Amino acid sequence: MSIRVSHLNKRFGNFVAVDDVSLEVDSGELVAFLGPSGSGKSTILRIIAGLETADSGSVFFAGQAADHLHARKRGVGFVFQHYALFRHMTVAQNIAFGLRVQGKSPGEQGARVHELLDLMGLAGLGERYPGQLSGGQRQRVALARALAPEPQVLLLDEPFGAVDARVREELRHWLRRLHDEVHVTSIFVTHDQEEAFSVADKVIVINRGRVEQAASPAEILDHPATEFVARFIGEANVYEGVARGGQVAVGRLQVPADGLPDGTPVCAVLRFYDLKFWKEDQGIARVARTMTLGDRVKVEAVIDDGPVIYSQFPRRSSLLAGIEPGCRIHIEVTLARLYPHNVVEGITVSA
Ligand code: ADP
Ligand code: MG
Repeated sequence: MSIRVSHLNKRFGNFVAVDDVSLEVDSGELVAFLGPSGSGKSTILRIIAGLETADSGSVFFAGQAADHLHARKRGVGFVFQHYALFRHMTVAQNIAFGLRVQGKSPGEQGARVHELLDLMGLAGLGERYPGQLSGGQRQRVALARALAPEPQVLLLDEPFGAVDARVREELRHWLRRLHDEVHVTSIFVTHDQEEAFSVADKVIVINRGRVEQAASPAEILDHPATEFVARFIGEANVYEGVARGGQVAVGRLQVPADGLPDGTPVCAVLRFYDLKFWKEDQGIARVARTMTLGDRVKVEAVIDDGPVIYSQFPRRSSLLAGIEPGCRIHIEVTLARLYPHNVVEGITVSA
């Protein structure tokens, strides 16, 4: 079932939590809401679920306005970060809970529970109690419980936030595989970019109650729509400067700014992996530190008359030859993204 959200607004007192948000989720899609903590992701999700009312704007399910539908009538399954399972009930009873509420016969309940235990890799654990499961297993039971009544829409709010990194990664694979199997329209809230990018078909980047960009993971990486997205996604160096002669000077580093009129204030976003460093005695920067991070090496350098700059290389890159603290380097910018920068608040200079 498709979901459309149109011009949603929500304030808490004077605080604007959701600011004119419009977005679409196609039927069968798995979409991530990605944004920093406090950006309004949960509030938007709760409004979609009917657990919170918007001040204005509408939510449509399959084209029908759902604003006056009670949460229970929306056909939504919900999984929270701390979705406490019923502790005094077995795994099977937990999963069957929504089916019992729907008045399904014990036979139907049993068959569905069995199917979900299999699907979630929990076969044989139906008689256990939640306290006898690992954190990852408990979250899978929570997923199975949300899916049991065959919701039209599955909403997950930081569902893997409470488990450790390794289990979280395993749960991501479960969620993706599960989605490929049942194709229920799903929205998944996270502040973790890797999680959003590895699981979702489409990522909606949210900041300060607004949608910054809604696109495929590749599109967001390659064509960040706003300065916020360029800064937030992937590791980047961010500098403020003014265009002169088709360039922006960052200390001795000249960042290409083709076609920008002299005097245009800009914010330059340089991704770590869009920079090349190589050893050169006449270079324009000095290496301060190198950090080996698994298969990558991060290099920190200081630009002459300028700020710190980071780049990142595959560990076996030939560019790393001779790069060590104290050595001088040259810097090549393979890709720079420039965004208009507000020097005076309220005035936006467009590039
Ligand atoms: P996120 O899920 O992105 O972390 P939330 O949607 O939970 O963000 O919250 C967005 C903002 O709204 C936060 O600043 C939060 O403190 C505020 N907020 C959320 N719910 C309430 C509430 N019931 N009362 C007052 N402020 C709230
Ligand atoms: Mg939240």
